[in-house]
Amino acid sequence: MPVLPIIQLGSTGHYVKLLQMNLNGLALNFNGFVLNGVFDIKTSEATKNFQDRFEINPDGIVGPVTWKVLLEQVKVVQKLLNARGHHAGYLDGWFGAATTNAVHRFQTVNGLYSSGIVEPRSRRRLFDPYPRDNYEYRPSSSDLRSLHPHVAVLARRFLELTRAHNLDVRIYTAFRSWDEQDRLFAQGRWMPGYVVTNARGGDSYHNWGLAFDAAPYENGIQSNDPQKFVRMGHFGQQVGLQWGGTFRTLVDYPHFQYTFGLNTWDLLHGVRPSV
Ligand SMILES: [Zn+2]
Repeated sequence: MPVLPIIQLGSTGHYVKLLQMNLNGLALNFNGFVLNGVFDIKTSEATKNFQDRFEINPDGIVGPVTWKVLLEQVKVVQKLLNARGHHAGYLDGWFGAATTNAVHRFQTVNGLYSSGIVEPRSRRRLFDPYPRDNYEYRPSSSDLRSLHPHVAVLARRFLELTRAHNLDVRIYTAFRSWDEQDRLFAQGRWMPGYVVTNARGGDSYHNWGLAFDAAPYENGIQSNDPQKFVRMGHFGQQVGLQWGGTFRTLVDYPHFQYTFGLNTWDLLHGVRPSV
């Protein structure tokens, strides 16, 4: 493979177009960048999102590590498409016409929306065709029992800790259904409202029982006081939860998660927490 150029905001040309095709094919074009070979702000944001999910420094600069991981991700998709008889062609790591057409065929025969891009539901069907659980079809819930048992334990400890410090905190979302996640993703894109998430159904830790949203309350009403959110966040961190207030790419103050070191693609591929 030739040495790939380092590209970043302001770069143009063939390799920027290839980057955009790969990000788009992997369903990471969540902000609607145009596949035109111009490395603009939106392409940079999508790049950072990709880097973040693979624990690469999210600087938006596509160097050797980012290229390597990105091409590997496309190759494994191509390999599985070929294995299922959908002819994605040579495993070159580029999400071109052959791969896109193979995804279309795969989606059509599996009763999935034929977008030609590997959205989470298609990813799951491709990587984990016979899942051992039914996360994709569970209803939304604010009940802690809808969470993974270990995460539910942490959530209870977190609530106890906030109570011990006279902070009234309530959990308003625990498990979130994939359909609801898709509706949230549509909001601000092809539906009215503001953009509230970059995750489609299956691509949020809420869709796997590994996240919940909470807010501080005052006299029975949800507080808007940032200091209370920060206190709440610190209590969550004290019990071992990751708090969305510390996120580098999309700060999310009500959000807490415990990922077991898995990203959402691992989960879609059928990898499960070991406890
Ligand atoms: Zn959340």
